[in-house]
Amino acid sequence: MRAPLTITVLLALLARPARAAADPFDDCLVRLQRTAAGRRISAATWRHVDGVRPDLTVLAALNAQPEFTMRVWDYLAVMVDEERVADGQRLMKQHQAIFDTVSRKYGVDAVVIAAIWGLESNFGRGTGTVAVIPALATLSCAGRRQAYFRGELVSALRIVQAGELAADRFRGSWAGAFGQTQFMPSTFWWRAVDFDGDGRRDLMDNLGDALASTANYLQQSGWRAGVPWGVEVRLPGGDSARQFARGEGRRIRRPVSTWAARGVTRADGSPLRAPSFDAELPVGLFMPAGPSGPAFLVTSNFGVVFSYNGAESYALAVVHLADRLRGGGPFVTPWPTDDLGLSRADRRELQQLLAARGHDTGPPAAILTPKIIAAVRVEQQRRGVPVTGRPGQQLLAALRAR
Ligand code: CA
Repeated sequence: MRAPLTITVLLALLARPARAAADPFDDCLVRLQRTAAGRRISAATWRHVDGVRPDLTVLAALNAQPEFTMRVWDYLAVMVDEERVADGQRLMKQHQAIFDTVSRKYGVDAVVIAAIWGLESNFGRGTGTVAVIPALATLSCAGRRQAYFRGELVSALRIVQAGELAADRFRGSWAGAFGQTQFMPSTFWWRAVDFDGDGRRDLMDNLGDALASTANYLQQSGWRAGVPWGVEVRLPGGDSARQFARGEGRRIRRPVSTWAARGVTRADGSPLRAPSFDAELPVGLFMPAGPSGPAFLVTSNFGVVFSYNGAESYALAVVHLADRLRGGGPFVTPWPTDDLGLSRADRRELQQLLAARGHDTGPPAAILTPKIIAAVRVEQQRRGVPVTGRPGQQLLAALRAR
């Protein structure tokens, strides 16, 4: 994630005579240290911030969060692919005792906890490599949302100062989320729990601590035990979906019986009501791709999952992965596109096919790197299709063909 050359360029931009007083970034950190000291961050702890220079890669990431910039069907294709379903089912079996205990204690479905684990860190395989304290120091003094990140920086320093996590092991995302289920430092203080009773809340290496903390977060955020997240539905014929959805939204909840009376059924045409989906349950209409895509009726539990990461496509990926882990199938209604997104296996194949055609795509990558996107653009231009840099099933099929 680090780009030393880019940082060098930035340092050159910020270069100034040695005795000049006004480096805005340094000044900001000095002011922050005073604030932190007022919140009992010792000078010894603050030394982890001393000398930090702003990290441009972190600031770039702030403006490119995939759950906001990708189309929902592209996001779902890569986040809820066959690999993640198979991994999740295998790992839930392997750690069944932990899942059972955590699920029972907090009243949250084990598949939902597993889905968050799977999306946040690919089941613990990718908890992030960015040094959290320098990243948060950067975000505290540059870019937007500085006030928010200052609070997170102080929370992170408190975690180190309390001996919960060593500074050199404090690695995570560019935004400061860390551990197997990617808690923000402030969330750690009000939601993390010590599941195994060893006196530390180890969200990095102790799976029980991480999963119990996540379940505790959901419970404390209002998760209702035994209530489903929602269900995919079919809207009645007659009025267009756009007309039907007018004035509705996932937070505008009406009883299941009201929707049933309006002619809404489950996506397979069966009645809306079910043992866990009773007539009085309040649900709201959620159409993540607009009126011509899949439609869902969602409960307040969907809103609880939404609160974990503040993105609707993220929440949909979590609950859909949870359903798939339980053995459920893909959505019934197709996404409104003729060019569906790529799974991780598709992306790997795409990279191989591009390399085989002579493109420099770099080492095998889990993400769409700038080199891969550049190669995609060249191929799109060559084939006379819109040059978007976004690879879908159509380009993959074309590359397979020749
Ligand atoms: Ca522990």
